[in-house]
Amino acid sequence: MALYAELHRHLGGSVVPRVLWRYFERHGADLIARFAEYSQFEDFYTRPRNSLDEYLELHTLVESVQTVETLPYFIYRLLRGAYIFENLAYLELRYTPYLRTPEHLSQNARIDKMAEIVDVVGKGSYVPEYPIVTSQILCMHSRLPYEVNKAIIDLAAQNQQYVCGIDVAGGDRYYQERLEEWVSLYDYGRSLGINTTGHLYETTDGCYPQLLPYLMRIGHGIQIPLLFPQLLKDIAKRGQCLEVCPTTYLKTGTLQDIRQLKLVFDRCFEAGVDIAICTDNAGLHNMRLPFEYENLLTHDIINFKQLQICQNAAFRHAFAWPHHQPPASLLNRLLKPELPKVLTMTD
Ligand SMILES: [Zn+2]
Repeated sequence: MALYAELHRHLGGSVVPRVLWRYFERHGADLIARFAEYSQFEDFYTRPRNSLDEYLELHTLVESVQTVETLPYFIYRLLRGAYIFENLAYLELRYTPYLRTPEHLSQNARIDKMAEIVDVVGKGSYVPEYPIVTSQILCMHSRLPYEVNKAIIDLAAQNQQYVCGIDVAGGDRYYQERLEEWVSLYDYGRSLGINTTGHLYETTDGCYPQLLPYLMRIGHGIQIPLLFPQLLKDIAKRGQCLEVCPTTYLKTGTLQDIRQLKLVFDRCFEAGVDIAICTDNAGLHNMRLPFEYENLLTHDIINFKQLQICQNAAFRHAFAWPHHQPPASLLNRLLKPELPKVLTMTD
């Protein structure tokens, strides 16, 4: 039994179409009235989009039903699927807490409500029958004002029991107009000792070298090896890890063929840059982490040895994995105590 670490999964995009359909059947039939049957809904929900913007619009559909009352329902099903079908031992869930607060409230009232959301997600993620180590990454959002994003950082700092880092999401081409603001927000986050990742170098619109020094991991980052391989040396020196989510690039129109990722992996391996393979929006993609692995193997993008290197890198770069080793060595000791060899994180 292999156990995996998932470092990049959005709470909104993690709801598989069947679970969302069932939820709508029970609680929001009007939202699915235009679909005669489930297969039509699944097709609408999971089909590729023309751009990242169009793709991100789907998130709002799920965000609108993920409220403080319904979050435990969705999180329970997420963990159940992740444990049973994906063999996850570790999961970082990311989302923008502000977007789960009631829209009719004032900005300040919504900021005040964010702590409750973090608490509900944290408590909902503790499911003894599906023992996965979980933590939250709070996403700042490219279309939210500075005050809200700063409050998200403060919230992360105040809730280390449940939160392991911050991110910026919402479409990477919108960073440009407020670049200094993003730099100062990340600088502030780092000054508080918060772990950082950020959606960057995902598309050709999202290439901002000014932000790179502030990130411990890079959300996607595929345009670095593809278009700016000269940056890889510094990325390796800083020990930054790329969170590569293969299916995303086909769903957003960023890449036309998954085999384009071969160059990403080859150049990163060559430069000594770690890659964690992730799903991003497993539900929207109707995808599970083991299938992402398998896809990369069957398309000859990586081999088994490289896959294991990436799987170990995911545990090493996990912000809240509480052990010094990946699960294989822990399981060895538990299941075969007579074995003398102990694997370490560098194996
Ligand atoms: Zn993402």
